Amino acid sequence: MADTTHASDTLHRRGLMLILSSPSGAGKTTIARMLLERDDEIQMSVSATTRPMRPGEVEGVHYHFVDPAEFDRMVEADEFYEWATVFGHSYGTPKAHIRAGLKEGRDFLFDIDWQGTQQLYQKDQQDVVRVFILPPSIGELRARLTGRGTDSPEVIESRMARARAEISHWDGYDYVVINDDVEECYELVSEILHAERMKRARQTGLIGFVRGLMAG
Ligand code: ADP
Ligand code: 5GP
Repeated sequence: MADTTHASDTLHRRGLMLILSSPSGAGKTTIARMLLERDDEIQMSVSATTRPMRPGEVEGVHYHFVDPAEFDRMVEADEFYEWATVFGHSYGTPKAHIRAGLKEGRDFLFDIDWQGTQQLYQKDQQDVVRVFILPPSIGELRARLTGRGTDSPEVIESRMARARAEISHWDGYDYVVINDDVEECYELVSEILHAERMKRARQTGLIGFVRGLMAG
């Protein structure tokens, strides 16, 4: 059988932080789920939160559940890339685990809004790749929010009202993808991820590899 292992597959690289943002209902959760299922090298970033655990949630999988005093200590100790208060509870992205993972060549996926994206980008520009997902039309966005069946008509109206404001931040991203057909959208995001992994600056194993080529 032919050997399908290539030198480029085994070269060490630095990981990256892939941010997916979109107006609510455009499909970022769907695309994130597809990436996590189909790509072994990317994992979801796990935030810390002070909110109580919900039934079915698992410590370290959905969140790191911490009490407010511990959260405050982490803020003081500068242990978060970014943090925010949402619906009365604190949420933050812890740095240590991600920093170690990036060094080992693991990628992290973030499902965050434009404000979180800005904060993360300010902290670590070289590791962040920002992707914004747009719906094909406002009518389709409404249809998806309605079809998802998770929100009341009032909540759908408030999400629609916020959608335009969220869309206005499209120019704060490196890539913009329109989610018309879901498989096509996934393919495009996957291509972005693969191309970003190949950036010279991330291919930290290249120096040794090229040295070997020259010596050979
Ligand atoms: P978000 O995470 O951005 O709020 P979701 O991923 O939950 O959005 O998608 C909203 C709804 O639209 C879900 O019911 C999902 O199955 C559906 N959906 C996502 N992408 C597409 C698409 N390309 N075509 C049709 N429906 C889609
Ligand atoms: P939930 O409590 O429903 O899981 O999340 C509530 C909100 O908190 C969501 O809008 C989610 O995007 C946001 N959130 C979750 N983790 C973080 C985080 O690490 N940082 C920020 N800024 N928001 C977060």
